[in-house]
Amino acid sequence: MSKINRKQDALDYHSQGRPGKIQVIPTKPYSSQRDLTLAYSPGVAEPCLKIAENKDDVYKYTAKGNLVAVISNGTAVLGLGDIGAEAGKPVMEGKGLLFKIFADIDVFDLELDTKNVDEFVNIVKALEPTFGGVNLEDIKAPECFEIERRLKEEMNIPVMHDDQHGTAIISAAALINACELQKKKLDKIKIVVNGAGAAAISCSRLYEAIGAKKENIVMCDRSGVIRADRENLDPIKAEFATTRDLNTLEEAMKDSDVFIGLSSADCVSVEMLKSMAKNPIVMAMANPNPEIAYDLAISSRKDIIMATGRSDYPNQVNNVLGFPYIFRGALDVRATAINEEMKIAAVRAIAELTKKPVPEAVNMAYNAKNIKFGKDYIIPKPMDFRLMTNVSMAVAKAAIESGVARKIITDWDAYAEELRK
Ligand code: NAP
Ligand code: MG
Repeated sequence: MSKINRKQDALDYHSQGRPGKIQVIPTKPYSSQRDLTLAYSPGVAEPCLKIAENKDDVYKYTAKGNLVAVISNGTAVLGLGDIGAEAGKPVMEGKGLLFKIFADIDVFDLELDTKNVDEFVNIVKALEPTFGGVNLEDIKAPECFEIERRLKEEMNIPVMHDDQHGTAIISAAALINACELQKKKLDKIKIVVNGAGAAAISCSRLYEAIGAKKENIVMCDRSGVIRADRENLDPIKAEFATTRDLNTLEEAMKDSDVFIGLSSADCVSVEMLKSMAKNPIVMAMANPNPEIAYDLAISSRKDIIMATGRSDYPNQVNNVLGFPYIFRGALDVRATAINEEMKIAAVRAIAELTKKPVPEAVNMAYNAKNIKFGKDYIIPKPMDFRLMTNVSMAVAKAAIESGVARKIITDWDAYAEELRK
């Protein structure tokens, strides 16, 4: 399909019929006069009074428990940058669509016209009565860090900035599996992270949490290696500043085991890949075009494992493997947060699932015959229906075990059955 056709198709897809991608559908009968007196006045007063007596009954009588807010101010939309709140709305509606089709979670997308951190935080906090959870989306760094930190502190429902943690969780699962295949140990691997933004910082923190060593990470931004002796070093970047005597990405890549790209297209060369250690792992995740093109990377050396953010090549690091099920598990135990334990449980569940035999239906969905764990399959495919049970249950269990669940699941078989419906 030509580029022009594809552009027009995308515009038509969004504008044809009812504009946009989502609508609200009632979940109760509404065809008789009786139904209407129950749905609205006077009948509706009864659940109102129950909730007034006991706030927690809001979960019993309203949609709160299955409703997630996808909230953005449009300052870092996809790879498009600060395009404004309205321009980000198609993405937020799209995220709503994914939540619904993959995990049956309902979403209101909220595009806020503010770049002020205090104002953003105050607005989102005030929305707590409405929602079971908050997915922050496409908010630029460094504001995204403070916004998420404050909301997590001040709200009693799960809050997650998916651009940070979703990416971290999926890429960490990929990293665990790639290390296994390349016979490398997490606590030994030398990692170069190119990019020092929302995704890169959060990924590096999570890799550390699963066993990588901070002293083995070298992070670069547009000015090259982030050195501890850099003048006016940004406090967030300082967390991963190195004391090694390195200045350029090229120098950092030499003899490294892992390259993590969360920066921009085409900033890595074949020579850099050739200079890496034996059996290198390259995750070039800049979107829409990776730090080095897939074909170029795999032709550079035979021992490489390569992943990107693209759906048209193997090993797509796609956040949709995580966020629907992380929120599903969190909502189902009415968690007050999405904490480290829950994120790591998601990482392990995604990594483990990759190693299980792939059902025929998944092969068929991808027109493939025999998808199996190996260099071209280090993370599950988005259409793998087992993600719903495996990841949601792992997250729910971790929430219970780490003490943030307000509802305890005891019959796990029944829960699995419910998730499979
Ligand atoms: P961000 O917060 O804007 O950060 C971008 C970072 O990349 C900045 O630190 C920037 O350096 C650095 N950078 C840009 N070009 C560079 C270059 N040529 N060399 C070295 N560093 C460079 O963006 P983000 O949300 O973290 O996302 C970063 C990239 O990852 C985007 O392309 C995004 O699409 C991609 N991404 C992919 C996935 C996925 O595949 N699942 C998920 C999330 C993000 P300065 O600090 O010096 O400006
Ligand atoms: Mg995003």
